[in-house]
Amino acid sequence: MVSDPLIRTQLPMKAENVQCPNCEEPLVIELPERTGETRSRFCPKCGNSVHIHRTTTGDVHIGGKFDGPNDDWARFLNYTGVWVEPASVIGFISIAVEVFANVSEGTEKTTSNLKKLMIERIASERLGFNLSMVSSFIKILLQGGAFQFPQSKGGWKIPFVNTFSQSSLFQAYIRGAVRRLKTKFTLTTSDSTRLCELLLPVGTVGAKEAVELALADTGKTSNEGLTEE
Ligand SMILES: [Zn+2]
Repeated sequence: MVSDPLIRTQLPMKAENVQCPNCEEPLVIELPERTGETRSRFCPKCGNSVHIHRTTTGDVHIGGKFDGPNDDWARFLNYTGVWVEPASVIGFISIAVEVFANVSEGTEKTTSNLKKLMIERIASERLGFNLSMVSSFIKILLQGGAFQFPQSKGGWKIPFVNTFSQSSLFQAYIRGAVRRLKTKFTLTTSDSTRLCELLLPVGTVGAKEAVELALADTGKTSNEGLTEE
């Protein structure tokens, strides 16, 4: 009955300091002291799934370089150019809302300008976000239907007509990421916890609800706008 969650959590745990074998991000992972135990978690920096294993000598063996079934989600997002590290998502959403709330007259509301304004803002205020992820973030929003275009056709240079809020962008982001994953994987409600872990920082308010809504979404997956113009 090792798999009983109650028994598992009662095992004496030890916090192990390890490094992601893919990107070398330092991670702290709780691992039971009992020999043979294994735990895994997504690296918040690169999305790799890091597995740590208690050896017979009590040491820690680190494994996992995109080699498990769930790692395929992160790898797919990474390799298809739409990976955004969970730690940046909420910050990106705030910046996206802010830059267009105070947009100057004559600046068209396009995703191309959104990207430009976000990058300028992040760079000028030294916000410490990875600038290369801004494109990925906007591609996911496009796939999630965050922008309403006057004709049905969307794209990076076409002005969109809607305004957005923190909460509407949050839902659109999750919907876009799940739609993207659904182009390759079959996802069910039982995947919601792992998807939360993959996409958002631990403890994000509303994460589970947003992921469940996105999983239930049957909206058409559009690839429009995914290639940057
Ligand atoms: Zn990593």
